Amino acid sequence: MNSKIIYSIVVPLYNEELVVKETYRRLKSVMDSTKENYEIVFINDGSKDKTVDIVEDICREDEKIKLINFSRNFGHQAAITAGMDMALGSAIVVIDADLQDPPEVILEMIKKWKEGYEVVYGKRAKREGETFFKKFTAKAFYRILKSMTSVDIPVDTGDFRLIDRKVCDALIALPEKNRYVRGLVSWVGYKQTCVEFVRQERFAGETKYPLKKMIKLALDGITSLSYKPLVISGYLGMVTFIAGIISTMGVIINQLINGTEIISLPLILAVNVAMFGLTLGCIGIMGQYIGRIFDESKGRPIYIIKDTINYKRVDKRYEISC
Ligand code: UDP
Ligand code: MG
Repeated sequence: MNSKIIYSIVVPLYNEELVVKETYRRLKSVMDSTKENYEIVFINDGSKDKTVDIVEDICREDEKIKLINFSRNFGHQAAITAGMDMALGSAIVVIDADLQDPPEVILEMIKKWKEGYEVVYGKRAKREGETFFKKFTAKAFYRILKSMTSVDIPVDTGDFRLIDRKVCDALIALPEKNRYVRGLVSWVGYKQTCVEFVRQERFAGETKYPLKKMIKLALDGITSLSYKPLVISGYLGMVTFIAGIISTMGVIINQLINGTEIISLPLILAVNVAMFGLTLGCIGIMGQYIGRIFDESKGRPIYIIKDTINYKRVDKRYEISC
């Protein structure tokens, strides 16, 4: 019997051998309690440990569990995108594998969905067991991003959320490559609400988001939703131009009135270095946008699937992409 899938739980995995069994156990217990049909879609994002072997064993025992296996590491956002592309449910829940997002909160999200909300995002009321640096940078980033864009992005939310099939289809239709999924969910609109939860400590293992990946995600967030950094660099140019004119006039007037020249080599050097830095910084900001335009123009896919388990070729988009 193949009854309609109501819930798809999308779980990205990158070197999560220490947590994936427990994640499966907790998710299964929560989803079984709904008494409705569901699937759990694990996306292996090029793990180098035993993650795939463990998920393969789970898939063999439980056909509700599906695996999408990437050809290499394409990144968290690409993994979520693949999960959404392949999900068959009427409601799709994206959740991290490390149990920082408690699976039990999914039941509250489902309740809100049944009340008619099309996006239910998890809002982190408190973060347990994370470093001061992580908490501070995350808090600062969400606020900077909010101030830079006209899209109403809720602060302190990650990718842990439930979205309706309609929203999922709207997101799938967006072709952009450097995806900042949580921002795109806000961008598409629909009726949105939140449930608050306490973000837990990682169940086991270490973060798979080193500083480099965090910066890339932050830049994707800002560049995909706002061109304010370009506007700001234009303003900076204007301000320094005006400052230059004023100081030039000061030098000329001083020469005319007092007949003295103000020549301070260290000052000239210092101003030059500062201006050079400013110019390079503005070029760098442009580079961020140009690089992303370059990525779009190549038209490469967001991810490549090596193989899958428990997906039949008749399943929706997979049939098309095969
Ligand atoms: N992840 C992924 N690809 C990556 C990095 C992370 O699929 O390149 C997954 C990871 O396995 C986890 C989720 O993305 O399920 C969030 O990663 P993590 O918990 O390490 O991030 P943090 O909570 O520390 O920001
Ligand atoms: Mg985590």
